[in-house]
Amino acid sequence: MREPEDLMRHGIGFTSQRTRERLIQRLIEEGIKDQRVLEALRNIPRHMFVDEALSHRAYEDTALPIGNNQTISQPFMVAYMSEVLLEDGPLDKVLEIGTGSGYQTAVLSRLVERVFSVERIKPLQDRAKERLVELNLRNQVFRWGDGFEGWPALAPYNGIIVTAGAPEVPQALLDQLAPGGRMVIPVGASGETQQLLLIVREEQGFSRRKLCDVRFVPLLNGTLS
Ligand code: SAH
Repeated sequence: MREPEDLMRHGIGFTSQRTRERLIQRLIEEGIKDQRVLEALRNIPRHMFVDEALSHRAYEDTALPIGNNQTISQPFMVAYMSEVLLEDGPLDKVLEIGTGSGYQTAVLSRLVERVFSVERIKPLQDRAKERLVELNLRNQVFRWGDGFEGWPALAPYNGIIVTAGAPEVPQALLDQLAPGGRMVIPVGASGETQQLLLIVREEQGFSRRKLCDVRFVPLLNGTLS
């Protein structure tokens, strides 16, 4: 694989390895421990996933606008959700709901065998696809559709990650989780605090663990072209 480093816009201070390493150090201070996750964030150039006008802020630990009223998730959240997903060992098939900029997709593609990513807004999906091609990442596929329905044709998944807040856990996603599979999802009524949940498909039924309070954009019905 071509090193993402080759693809960076050279000569620009804020994309320097040192700036990026500072973000990684901050994630470690905030409690991220999984070396594979830290390595993935180190290797994916986040400035490629935000508008050029905002790229000087790409290595701050903050969410940023990506158009269509959506945001690229905060690096800490991307790292934390990936860590929780992988806590019990490596994963083969992971379904992502809410491709957005494609940043979390790119991070996951370095961490699991295959990523299946669903986005409801076509222009966001198109840009995300282009970025991953540019980075020469190839173990992901995209679907333009309503993530409330998951991606039934390719189910079940060993992991599901949802990057928008739902009022409750969509039944279709529970149905598409493989035995022993893990789902990380923000849940909460719109306008209220959401909670990040870890849901595991046990031999009988599902276990749920509350992880922390979070704020994500809402999971919305239908698609936008
Ligand atoms: N992980 C992304 C986060 C993007 S924000 C990133 O870091 O860039 C959440 C995304 O979820 C938005 O792009 C939004 O359009 C998408 N989304 C919201 N509801 C959805 C649904 N029902 N199906 C698929 N995607 C959805």
